[in-house]
Amino acid sequence: MNLYLTTNSTKLRFKLNYNPINYDLKTGKFQVQSEKFENYEDARANHWQCDKCEHRFSTYKSLRGHKKEVHAY
Ligand SMILES: [Zn+2]
Repeated sequence: MNLYLTTNSTKLRFKLNYNPINYDLKTGKFQVQSEKFENYEDARANHWQCDKCEHRFSTYKSLRGHKKEVHAY
């Protein structure tokens, strides 16, 4: 029961915070939301976004840590 709830809320957070990386054929650049990046690594470093303060992170782990520390949840 507990395990099920945890899995479910993780999925929800994934949906809320993950910005997909798109490749723009016209400009040859990678795009995350409205921002463009020269290379995939730069785009990757910005695709996890905090829904509270819009700070960006390269990994879900660091986003989660940030939320715990700064927003206490
Ligand atoms: Zn934040």
